[in-house]
Amino acid sequence: MGPLLLSIPSTVFDNPHITILKNLGEAVKEQLRLLQQLQDIDTQTKEIQLTIEQVPAQLAPAKNDLEKLASMLIIERQQLADTEAWRAEQEDIVNREEEALKNAKAKLQEAKNARDFGAASREIDNKKRSIHDREQEILKVYEALEVGRTKLTGHEEDVEKLRAHVEGEEAKFADTLKELKEKVASAAAGRPAVEGAIDKTLLKRYNTVMHRRGTAVVEVRDGVCQGCHMSLAPQLAIQVARGESIQSCRQCNRLLFVPEAPTAEGEESQAS
Ligand SMILES: [Zn+2]
Repeated sequence: MGPLLLSIPSTVFDNPHITILKNLGEAVKEQLRLLQQLQDIDTQTKEIQLTIEQVPAQLAPAKNDLEKLASMLIIERQQLADTEAWRAEQEDIVNREEEALKNAKAKLQEAKNARDFGAASREIDNKKRSIHDREQEILKVYEALEVGRTKLTGHEEDVEKLRAHVEGEEAKFADTLKELKEKVASAAAGRPAVEGAIDKTLLKRYNTVMHRRGTAVVEVRDGVCQGCHMSLAPQLAIQVARGESIQSCRQCNRLLFVPEAPTAEGEESQAS
């Protein structure tokens, strides 16, 4: 793309009304105004679309946390259930051992000789020790279960709180998303009218530069292109300032304009 200057927009020739105006400056000004309007629409649309894309990502960390915590809760519950089952099993064993102890005591009563007596009392001692040891274990497990249940309740509350938070955020995001989509739609609705009023060559240049650079129409301030921040050649700076043609930056190809100094009339209307 050469350093083409989009001088007089073809609409100036196509539109007899504009030629009658005999004021190229007005036509150029109008085209520049439309181009800026188009750029505003496109920039706004792009920004909103970017936000729309980011919305699910913003919610992802909290959702991940919730999923992780919820699966940890399942493991925690399972471990507690396993411990509970082990405790019940131990208590069954104790019950059976107590039964055996009763039998051993009965045998002792019925012992007819020293040998039977000795065997029965050894069995009684063994059962008593075994029952005692197992009961100590069960007691410890009871304590552990108590602690485990308290922890689980706390974790369940945490997960519920997080779930409520995530659901609240999701609802909020859904509202935001709806709002943003409406904004995109309303911005896009105005675009064809603006686009249709822009000179075709100019529009083509606008689209190419916009696609490549993200902005297509930029201000010239103190002879410097505000798109690429390079100084314009003096001759070009003068042409842009004159406002009778639409020029593009030789470095970045962006379309250039010099903002109009506020007129006394403009200030008045602003003041009122
Ligand atoms: Zn530039």
